Amino acid sequence: MGSSADLVEIFSSIQGEGPSVGEPTLFVRFGGCDLRCRWCDSPHTWRPPGRCRFELEPGGERFREVDNPVEVATVLEAARALEVGTHRFVSLTGGEPLLQPEAVGALASALRQEGPRILLETHGLATEALEQVISHIDVVSMDWKLASEVRRADAPRGASGEPFHEWHQAFLRVARRAPEVVVKVVVTPSSECGELDAMASAIAAVDASTPVVLQPVTPFGPVREAPTAASLLSLVRRLRERLSSVRLIPQTHKQLGVL
Ligand code: SF4
Repeated sequence: MGSSADLVEIFSSIQGEGPSVGEPTLFVRFGGCDLRCRWCDSPHTWRPPGRCRFELEPGGERFREVDNPVEVATVLEAARALEVGTHRFVSLTGGEPLLQPEAVGALASALRQEGPRILLETHGLATEALEQVISHIDVVSMDWKLASEVRRADAPRGASGEPFHEWHQAFLRVARRAPEVVVKVVVTPSSECGELDAMASAIAAVDASTPVVLQPVTPFGPVREAPTAASLLSLVRRLRERLSSVRLIPQTHKQLGVL
């Protein structure tokens, strides 16, 4: 357990999105991300901070600050203080956790022994890193990025046409080794049907029964509006032509005002 991680925060809450919505979840948020999603609501995670914060008791009111990187044993101690064993899931989230695969593997293995299932929330592109940790993960919640709204952090501004479908497909093939996998796609009023069709075909080529969650964007930054109800229902119908498990689930933690 000699590994350490650059973190942003550790806190106890409920899962706000995806199929496990509402489940008591302990969040371990990693610092650093190599993508720039137009609608990202956590740009403070893009670069690992010098210090991270640990919630002292559930409720989001009292925190203490700790220098990065944090030893796995220190994370475990903080998780126990938040009664990790009473949670249904530990969510390893970010930023992008798979930029630190050694830390993800060590933390997942240690926290799993406390009882909760380990849920990895990832942008779904770091396939080699996933290979290293997949045996420690119970649920892979992978994003499917649309090239019209997302770019690599090091890509020149205005660059487009990244082969995300191909990369996500390779990632999904490895993710399926976990007991559960779910694909999440964030849609905005400008999401293009052609891109979503290509996504559905790429997922169906791996397994048409893969659970897919369509998540309407919560307006943030340059994204000012959510898609209309009619457009969302039409997208669900469209995806269901190729995929057998498609659900429409908005972010609920924003509505509830919880962390
Ligand atoms: S992958 Fe996640 S953290 Fe990174 S830019 Fe996109 S939404 Fe933000």
